This record gives sequence, structure tokens and C-alpha cells, in this order.
Amino acid sequence: MKEVDYLIIGQGIAGTMLSWFLLEEGKRVIVIDDAKPNSASRVAAGIINPVSGRRFEPAWMYDTIYPYAKAIYLQLSALLQVSVFTARQIWSVFPSAQMQSAFLQKTSDSAYTEVPSALRYEEFLDQPHGAAIVEGATINLSSFLPAYRKYLHDRESLKAEHFELAKLELLEKGVRYGDLLAEKIIFCDGVATSANPYFEKIKFLPNKGEVLQIEVPGLVTNDIIKKSITLVPQDNGLFWAGSSFVWDYTDDHPTEAQRLILEKSLNQLLKVPYIIKGQLAAVRPSGNDRRPIVGFHPEHPAIGVFNGLGTKGCSLAPYMASHFKDVLVKNAVLMPEIDVKRYF
Ligand SMILES: Cc1cc2nc3c(=O)[nH]c(=O)nc-3n(C[C@H](O)[C@H](O)[C@H](O)COP(=O)(O)OP(=O)(O)OC[C@H]3O[C@@H](n4cnc5c(N)ncnc54)[C@H](O)[C@@H]3O)c2cc1C
Repeated sequence: MKEVDYLIIGQGIAGTMLSWFLLEEGKRVIVIDDAKPNSASRVAAGIINPVSGRRFEPAWMYDTIYPYAKAIYLQLSALLQVSVFTARQIWSVFPSAQMQSAFLQKTSDSAYTEVPSALRYEEFLDQPHGAAIVEGATINLSSFLPAYRKYLHDRESLKAEHFELAKLELLEKGVRYGDLLAEKIIFCDGVATSANPYFEKIKFLPNKGEVLQIEVPGLVTNDIIKKSITLVPQDNGLFWAGSSFVWDYTDDHPTEAQRLILEKSLNQLLKVPYIIKGQLAAVRPSGNDRRPIVGFHPEHPAIGVFNGLGTKGCSLAPYMASHFKDVLVKNAVLMPEIDVKRYF
């Protein structure tokens, strides 16, 4: 029997950040993860954007969470010897004159946006209504998650396997799972939590996103390019082009219907030919109020959850995981708007 303080289920961005902060506190942690190839964190582009959605509202808590996330990702880059964080400008092309004026109105006092003196990418992009520059970033999840997985493995803190809830035993104090005894188990298993009977009261609003991987001959940039579709340059010379939002879906695989919708958006953005090299799909773990879902089951204090990161896992995860760690090890008070108890 092996005793640990925390058993964490899932090593997406949520389980990665939470296990990191707990290990940093000297806690004994085991992460169980089955490396689902189309988990949200493995399909996401890792964009951090200070401006939220089509209404251009400032992203929730951005001035607090962004500097914190940046510092933590840079610290992890140094530790893991991989490039985790890249500051990038988001070249935001206005789809219409109305969107241009809404953007300018909403962001007039933002420290993160500016109106460029000249248009970029004129040869490649259809941008009759102009564009703005937004200061953002990307997290290189395709390098970061495997590098952190190796770190966990080297510390004997990883079980690379599928976790089966039916095999979990609740004890008077803590839980047992096979040969593991843990004080607490914390579910960081993304959309899988929506099928977990302990958390059936959570109002999840999971939504599926699909993405194309494309080559755009001649277009070389470090910027993110955004219109009704977003292009993110990848290390392999391709662009991540996405993503769609679908609430009514039957499975988590790529579909022809969404490929056609993504292509339509690409055709409205690009003036040049492009080549589709691949298509990906995953489901975003979102709650109905778009806030993280954090804390412990009111009747089973050994069973916790860290979820609901929605469309913003990369910007939210470091700060929210650190806050949860403070609740766990320093008796800090959990922010009420993220407390899972709001659903019970
Ligand atoms: C198409 C798309 C684009 C996105 N783009 C962005 C973006 O640009 N920027 C951004 O910040 N966010 C983006 N997101 C959202 C982001 O991906 C999520 O907020 C984030 O990845 C959620 O992380 P998570 O760790 O909670 O869940 P997940 O990433 O789903 O991780 C869950 C982990 O648990 C494991 N797991 C599940 N069940 C079990 C089990 N029974 N046993 C063992 N392991 C298990 C899985 O293998 C997985 O590793 C995007 C999402 C999608 C789908």
C-alpha cells in the first residue's frame, strides 16, 4: 500500500498545474492520466487573449491572472527545459464595420490593444474593415504537457493508466484506489467529470471544438491571426485553424459538417490558397456560468474537483490552481464564485 496526500485524476492543464503547486509544497501526489489524444488540452492552441468573445469584453480577472500565469509558465520553461510561453500579438481582423466600431469603443482604455499605423499581411488576408493589434500569448501545450508528464514520471508521481471510478473506495478518512491510499482525490479529468455521479449536480455546458491544421504557402509569422477563425503558427510550419463551438454533438470526433464551416471562415479570411493537412476535435469542459469549478463535495470531503476552465484553460489554470493549493494547505478561503458548492 502506498500512502499519498493527493490523488489527482487527469493531466490536462488543470491536473498539471494543481499537481505542480502541491508538489512544490512538499505534498505527496500521484497523478493518474490516460493521455486521451483528443483531450481539450491536447487539441487547444493555448491562446491567451485579454479580450473575450465577440463582445470584446475584458477577460475575467485578466490583470490578476495573466501576470501570474506568465511568471509560472516561464518558471516551468526553465525547470523543464522546454519553451512553454510565447508572447504574441493577435492580429485581429474586423469582420465588419460594426465590429470595428464595437471593438474600438470597448477597448479604448485597454492597455492590451492598439490600432496599427499600417495593415499587415495585405497580400494574404481579406481585411477591408481593417485590423487591430491585441497583446496576447500562447502556451505551447504540445511540448509542455509531455515534458511535465516526464517530470512526474521521474518523481514516481505518475500512473499512466485509465482511472475507473467503480474501483474507488471511500474510507472513514480519505480514499483507497487499488494499492493507493490518499487523503483526498481531486478530479481534473476535464469533460469526464460531467459523467461522474459524485458531481452530477454540476451544471456542465460542455461544448465541442473542431480545428483544421493547414499550410498557407508563403505566410510566415509569429502573430496569431484572428477573424471569425483564428490561425496560430505551429512549430512544424503549419497553422492551427479554429475553432468551432458546437453544443449539440454526438461524439468527440472530427466531422465533415464542421470542416465545411471552418473552410468557409478560412475562405473569408485568406486571399491565397491553403492546404488542409489534418482535422482535430475535442470537448471543452465548461460550466453553465463560465467560471472554474473548484472545491470538495459537500457530503464527501475527500472528493474534490478542479474543472470548468472552459475556453480559457491556459490563462486561468495557474492562478486558480495556486489559489486551490492555498485553500488545501494554508486554509485560505475559496473564492465563492468558483466554489463547487454553488451547485449543491
Ligand atoms: C478546440 C479547442 C480549442 C481551445 N483553445 C484554447 C485556447 O486557445 N486557449 C485556452 O486557454 N483554452 C483553449 N481551449 C480550452 C482548453 O483546452 C480547456 O480549458 C482545458 O484544456 C481544460 O483542461 P482540463 O485539464 O480541465 O481538461 P482536459 O484537457 O480534458 O484534461 C483531462 C485529462 O484527464 C484525462 N482523463 C480523463 N478521464 C480519465 C480517466 N478516467 N482516467 C485517467 N485519465 C483521465 C485525459 O486523458 C486528460 O489528459 C480549447 C479547447 C478546445 C476543445
